[in-house]
Amino acid sequence: LIELDNIHKSFGDTHVLKGISLNVSKGEAVCIIGPSGSGKSTILRCINGLLPVDEGFVRVGHHRVHEIANEKEMRPLRHQVAMVFQQYNLFPHRTVLDNIMMAPIQVLKHEREQVRERALKLIAKVRLTGKENRYPGELSGGQQQRVAIARALAMQPEIILFDEVTAALDPETVKEVLNTIRELVEEGMTCLLVTHEMRFAREVSHRVCFTDQGRIVESAAPAQLFDAPQDPRTREFLGQVL
Ligand code: ATP
Ligand code: MG
Repeated sequence: LIELDNIHKSFGDTHVLKGISLNVSKGEAVCIIGPSGSGKSTILRCINGLLPVDEGFVRVGHHRVHEIANEKEMRPLRHQVAMVFQQYNLFPHRTVLDNIMMAPIQVLKHEREQVRERALKLIAKVRLTGKENRYPGELSGGQQQRVAIARALAMQPEIILFDEVTAALDPETVKEVLNTIRELVEEGMTCLLVTHEMRFAREVSHRVCFTDQGRIVESAAPAQLFDAPQDPRTREFLGQVL
């Protein structure tokens, strides 16, 4: 579903991605781990077209992302690929329900009643029934992040990119959010996750990629990567974080 072939990206004279190749199949959950500054967020932003690549090939479904020239042509891709960030970016003056309903109504032009029904189901799915009419400021960080996930799901994407969605949360709420993601993976949603939660990467993902200095150093099934890392850089990183 996602295919990256030898992508390169520089910001000015900093060469940030140095030939990233990565495939993610439908229904697969792939975690990207690695030190700060290694290019993890940049990879995600190249996949949904937020950043143009300098070199290489990016395909998402039938979209050849590296060839898309303007924002208008980017739209169908953005509908297919949702992204959830560390900062949930909810609209503070809109209720939970409105936050979830806005994009399907305004962007997809779906019918209001039908969107509302789906939004209520998504609120139940992320276990926030009863909070429909609350404002983001009245919720905990973990609850707000689950609203952000429900909002992403409301667009009925085929792929969800998660960029350190639990990094700003306290330990108890991290669990709630990870459980929501775990359920999505179990239902077969295609997910690419940048995470510092090594246990989660190990238990939930089908494959883990370790990035360092703009390259994927090692990519393997979680048990293999965590228990028997092949590259000395992977071993060093895991030694520091585990
Ligand atoms: P972290 O774990 O801290 O989030 P990361 O692996 O996600 O790190 P990226 O955000 O992809 O790292 O950044 C990789 C490198 O690219 C960093 O050195 C960063 O400073 C640089 N970079 C990222 N975005 C830009 C930008 N818009 N302009 C200039 N440099 C950038
Ligand atoms: Mg990042």
